[in-house]
Amino acid sequence: MRKFRNIAAAGLAASALFALAACNSGTPGDAPEQDVAEDVALEGSPTYDAAVEAGEISIGVKEDQPGLGYFDATTGDRTGFDVEIARWMAAELGFGEDEINWEAIPSANREQALVNGDIDFYVGTYSITDERKEQIDFAGPYFVTGQGLLVSADSEIESDADLTSDVTVCSATGSTPIQNIRDNYDAETREFDTYTACVDALLAGTVDAVTTDELILIGYAAAYPEDTKIVGEPFSVENYGIGVPKGDDALRGFFNDTLEEGGDTWTAIFDQELGDAGVTPEQPAVDRY
Ligand code: GLU
Repeated sequence: MRKFRNIAAAGLAASALFALAACNSGTPGDAPEQDVAEDVALEGSPTYDAAVEAGEISIGVKEDQPGLGYFDATTGDRTGFDVEIARWMAAELGFGEDEINWEAIPSANREQALVNGDIDFYVGTYSITDERKEQIDFAGPYFVTGQGLLVSADSEIESDADLTSDVTVCSATGSTPIQNIRDNYDAETREFDTYTACVDALLAGTVDAVTTDELILIGYAAAYPEDTKIVGEPFSVENYGIGVPKGDDALRGFFNDTLEEGGDTWTAIFDQELGDAGVTPEQPAVDRY
């Protein structure tokens, strides 16, 4: 399916390859550098054809979620598990870093960005749901996590059972976690565009808890270890997919093939980006719905 530019490196174990690439490159954040495919066999994808024509690929991401999708404005580094999955997919499509147009898009605007053609695909803690599938399609899943709770270090909230009507929970507009709280819990809700804004509200004491995927909360908890803690067990199942324009089955199939065939690459990316997060590296089977 792909041809490595560095043929000699192609035979090396993925981890060695990544270590090598990381040393040799100026890749942001010392992330593993992907080999950009030269002979790409992808027929019948309008999204891919348009990107080739444009000479660049537009990828929607988060940029305020440490460990997953993060942009450091000081260094210019874009890092995280989702970002690296996105770079991997782009590289398999033949697009290197200088041919990627990164677009930061919040949870509430993802479907519309894909429907409008503002982006070619989206990688950013994007749960596969039937409702979203009415507007877009998903490759993957490439990771499974669940909704969790971040509270202040001295909070008495211990689990989702404590989300009673006197508690205010913050989450992002248009996300599955806020919907779950509204549908199934008595707690008051507060919404912002980003989880960062919720964490700021938690630190300011204006909300009692932040809820979203535990994988996201781990990144914030690590940023504020003195002031926050994660409590309880995950109380939903979130399957992360790569959002693609609806009906582009060729692109979806290409990403699914890449995920399925690229277990070593997946593991190398996981180790690099989330190796310290205390999460089990388990690549889920893709769902070719
Ligand atoms: N995975 C959840 C969702 O897709 C929450 C994280 C997010 O908002 O990106 O809604």
